Amino acid sequence: MFTKKSFSKMFKSAVAYAVASAVAVSALSILASVTNSGFSDSLISVAKADNRFPFIPPLHLQMVSPEIKASLKLTTPVKLGKIRFGSKFRKINYQQFNSKFALVEGDILVLINSILNPDLADTPTGKDVYARWPGGIVPFKIDPNMKNQQRVSDAIKAWEASTPIRFIAANNSHKDFVKFIDTSDGCWSSIGMVGGEQNVNLESGCSTGNAIHEIGHTVGLWHEHSRNDRDSFINVYWNNIIVDKKHNFNKKEDSGFEGDDIGVYDYESIMHYGSYAFSLNGQATILRKDGTTVSGQRNNFTLADIGKIRAMYKNYIHGDCVGINYNSLQLKFVNNRWTIVDSGNHYAFSFDSTQKNEAEDSLNILRKYKITKSCFVGRPGPSMEYLLTIGDIAPQGNLISNEDCIHFNNANVVVQILDNGNHYRIVSDNSIMADFGNKREEAYRAFRVIKDYKLTEQCFVGRPGPSFKYWKR
Ligand SMILES: [Zn+2]
Repeated sequence: MFTKKSFSKMFKSAVAYAVASAVAVSALSILASVTNSGFSDSLISVAKADNRFPFIPPLHLQMVSPEIKASLKLTTPVKLGKIRFGSKFRKINYQQFNSKFALVEGDILVLINSILNPDLADTPTGKDVYARWPGGIVPFKIDPNMKNQQRVSDAIKAWEASTPIRFIAANNSHKDFVKFIDTSDGCWSSIGMVGGEQNVNLESGCSTGNAIHEIGHTVGLWHEHSRNDRDSFINVYWNNIIVDKKHNFNKKEDSGFEGDDIGVYDYESIMHYGSYAFSLNGQATILRKDGTTVSGQRNNFTLADIGKIRAMYKNYIHGDCVGINYNSLQLKFVNNRWTIVDSGNHYAFSFDSTQKNEAEDSLNILRKYKITKSCFVGRPGPSMEYLLTIGDIAPQGNLISNEDCIHFNNANVVVQILDNGNHYRIVSDNSIMADFGNKREEAYRAFRVIKDYKLTEQCFVGRPGPSFKYWKR
């Protein structure tokens, strides 16, 4: 606990600051009123460690989220740089955090090289800073020395229960993975998939809710308060913000970035700052337009959060499908090929002139299993083709005779990474089910298809060199 004596010592050192400060009066009055309030030693030490604001009103201290602690302690100068997202550039204010990263918006790490050299490839993977995790799958490790690892497993459980993001234990073959650590102050994470090992730090003060929030950054979410449209929803009180932390309240200066301005503005988002983040004087730094506070809740996702995450990853999970009506399919001989077409003569499946039997068998399969969608992972030249029936589920049962299917154990299906990350296969119990070459994205998407549609059989028409392929539950 903080004694009256030590507080008055701190008070003296605060005077010079307070005199120069426009907020001296309100700061002092808060100081006088709360000398007996209990607040955590770790937060006091943040205040003490930084001579720029030797005194921080306890009201403020009580509201300091561990998420902003790393930024609060940071004394490197605020700089202006630019950063590239795809073909667009975005201005960015940042403070250098360590040799590799800058810290922005309080708890988001951005590769310093991507700011200093925005025209170069942004990351070791040569992709955007902002890269998505292939298939929405995040390989992860936990530092064995990390305390209270339950926070990580509970946060992962929350993510998997509400969103399409999935987590798998990283092994030595994974080149890009997240490692959860608690070796530094604050809770922080990189934005998106950086490439290589990337850390999510959760100091002891970071809760499971903070962990859910940080994973939000890891999968590519920014903060709600920095959306381009935020001025229609909140007021930012710049005079209440610690001087060299004002950049944490900049909004996205360019528009059209995925993950931040998707969907509606959401005060209750798990990615929203609380009203007192980075307060200089115990007064709110963010308020709703009606003057009420924003909670900065870290309990769970809102429906809007979930919608945003789904939207961000919708093109990174599963395949793309075209609708077909099993009732209207016919076999026609067109341009010297046997072709299955729908009632509008739209091409669906094509076979050589010598494959009439295979075309007929395939048509029978499409009709019997009442196929409504034909789907592909990776087009053109898909690396996986699959069919869905009514209700968007995979076909099931044995509705035709002489089906040529190979059964596999869904639980044992893994993405096998070979050749130092240049070769991907899907295997189950040592048998190779699909080979994707260097197409990692497609390998993980196919993996998701197999898992999410609970596939257990891989089926063919005409082997070897099958002319028609499908999967069943
Ligand atoms: Zn954050």
